[in-house]
Amino acid sequence: MDAMRTFHRTWAAEHEAAEQRRLSASLTDEVGRLLAVQHEVQELSSRDELTGIHNRRFFMAELARRAGRQVLGTSLTSVVVIDVDRFKRVNDGHGHAVGDRVLAEVARLLADTVRAGDLLCRYGGEEFAVIQSHPDRRSAWRAAERLRTAVEEHDWSVFGLNDDLTVSLGLAARFTPTVPEALLASADAALYEAKRRGRNQVCDGSDVPQAC
Ligand code: GH3
Ligand code: MG
Ligand code: MG
Repeated sequence: MDAMRTFHRTWAAEHEAAEQRRLSASLTDEVGRLLAVQHEVQELSSRDELTGIHNRRFFMAELARRAGRQVLGTSLTSVVVIDVDRFKRVNDGHGHAVGDRVLAEVARLLADTVRAGDLLCRYGGEEFAVIQSHPDRRSAWRAAERLRTAVEEHDWSVFGLNDDLTVSLGLAARFTPTVPEALLASADAALYEAKRRGRNQVCDGSDVPQAC
């Protein structure tokens, strides 16, 4: 009788242990699944739906992070704000759907032109922005100029556009840790100046008195 009870208890304990292992494995699976979903939600919430590049919210958070971390004198942090020239004409002449495809293509060209480690975002509407690091202003300016020529030299006829598509760019660069909003305000003022000077050009904020 004792042997029978012992056998029964052992069997029950083994059964219980097996059940615990099964529960633990299924909990591990569930946690893994939830982490993957969380990662996907974070990724989606940091991206712009139309172009697939990062959105403004992600860009602002990254700019704040980089500004806070910057070590005095090591390198320039630059922000370039990029605005498609006369984009309203594209929409008016070819329709909003073509306008959307053109914007996605501009984003692709910019993404292909920036370097690894740069951060490109859709800043809003037909505006984009990039955060970069450079050893000096000349190098920052050349990088912005490469973005400008990538758009200018692209063949836009596949979208039915008769005229060239161009962008204007405002550049602001600082060595010292800075307030992100101040850097963006300088880049915006430089962009305004690039538009005023005739579009399809880069304007450095350091050349624009009100931007510095
Ligand atoms: P400028 O050279 O001064 O920048 O001229 P612009 O025509 O580009 O500037 P404006 O601000 O007058 O027009 C911008 C246009 O961009 C108006 C708006 O409808 C269009 N736009 C903004 N976001 C989108 C979008 O997601 N898709 C499309 N198709 N158009 C957009
Ligand atoms: Mg604009
Ligand atoms: Mg524009």
